[in-house]
Amino acid sequence: MNLIIDQIPERGRQIVLDTTTEWAMAAVSDTLGVLAESLSGKLQISSKAGRVSVSGELNTSATCECERCGESFRLALPVEVELLFDPAPSGAPVEEEEEVDEEELDIGWYQGNSLNLADVVTEAVALALPIRLECPDTEECDKRTAKLLAEKGRSGDSSHPGFAALSKLR
Ligand SMILES: [Zn+2]
Repeated sequence: MNLIIDQIPERGRQIVLDTTTEWAMAAVSDTLGVLAESLSGKLQISSKAGRVSVSGELNTSATCECERCGESFRLALPVEVELLFDPAPSGAPVEEEEEVDEEELDIGWYQGNSLNLADVVTEAVALALPIRLECPDTEECDKRTAKLLAEKGRSGDSSHPGFAALSKLR
């Protein structure tokens, strides 16, 4: 969804997102790498002298696979949105790697006169994601992970029923 900067009223504009907001659900799903199951929240957008500020809080959930033990779990992710956007410098398209002043590191750019809100949601969700997606139940996850490691590392381990059955076949 493209937001026309000139059309943002002085008091700002509020955009309500929910599970039926297709472009936002698509942006969240793309970022999570799995289909988002729910989305709710509001974005407050205001513009002052060309600088656009987007703030708000979103909540989204999805079924993810634990990166340690592989078990599926339900991820409930609160997404804090606090982003600023300036008009991209005119001329050549801006390279991500281009050097910027340190204080401007957190400021994104918009091209032309519009801000793509799907990109904003993508960025906010990416920032909110934990470094690793892991089961919320760490104790159970540890057990499953230990079991996986045991199966992988010591294939001769007869304490596992599966391996006991295998050794009988030999
Ligand atoms: Zn796990």
